[in-house]
Amino acid sequence: MPNSPRSAPYRGRLAPSPTGLLHLGHASTFWTAQEHARAAGGTLILRNDDLDLARCRPEFAAAMLEDLRWFGLTWDEGPDIGGPHVPYEQSRRLALYATAFERLRAAGAIYPCTCSRKDVQLAATAPHEHADEPLYPGTCRPENIGTTERERRATLPRDAANWRFRVPDGAPVEFRDGHFGPQRAIAGREFGDFLVWRRDGLPSYQFACVVDDDAMGITEVVRGADLIMSTFRQLLLYHTLGLTPPAFYHCALVTDEHRVRLAKRHDALALRALREQGKSPLAIRAEWR
Ligand code: GLU
Ligand code: ZN
Repeated sequence: MPNSPRSAPYRGRLAPSPTGLLHLGHASTFWTAQEHARAAGGTLILRNDDLDLARCRPEFAAAMLEDLRWFGLTWDEGPDIGGPHVPYEQSRRLALYATAFERLRAAGAIYPCTCSRKDVQLAATAPHEHADEPLYPGTCRPENIGTTERERRATLPRDAANWRFRVPDGAPVEFRDGHFGPQRAIAGREFGDFLVWRRDGLPSYQFACVVDDDAMGITEVVRGADLIMSTFRQLLLYHTLGLTPPAFYHCALVTDEHRVRLAKRHDALALRALREQGKSPLAIRAEWR
């Protein structure tokens, strides 16, 4: 049984991003999520993580729903059927993120960053072996800027800069994963100050995910192991916002025959391609056992 620190009825979610066709890796993770929800007699939510406006496309969102249904996944709340937490598309929930952003700002937990992506890459320290992105060198941290800049920032509008969450350097962040057991990372070493809001007016994945998982009452997050490093960041956000985090269960990643992690570019393993080849969902699931 999935471990849940909350006594509330089980609520799980499927949170795909419509940036391409869903593949076997998604199907495998989502199937586990569905099994957990069913075993607990709980509720499963479908959330459309469509915040990456440059990469998300409406035709992928439509294909996503169709492929999920074809595979045998069903949900109790979602963009297509509604529910108590409408809307279920992240692109339509910006007001919620903006409110939570102001709470982070009021807590002094974030600061605006004027570095370009290139600046960060050039100045970043050699990433730790577990790091999933270059460590931000801290150039724009409040203690590293002058008085004039500090005054300018006091009234800076949300959408006028990229905003980073200041991580507590050297502090361990820990959680018990329902699948992989105890997990631990050191803030400032394995991950650095991460983006919560972008100049383009949108929250980062880390931030939107926490706001929504909390708002939608999610009790257990089931997702791919590629997001374990994100969980440490998200735990810091939960803590700063004074929220109780859900339980986490990360699934092993599905790889292709060369042990390369499946990505949306593995078109041959897209659910749609398998379906066109005449594969049945039952046959696909039988191969996992
Ligand atoms: N939407 C994210 C993705 O497709 C996953 C979100 C999550 O499960 O936390 O990678
Ligand atoms: Zn910066």
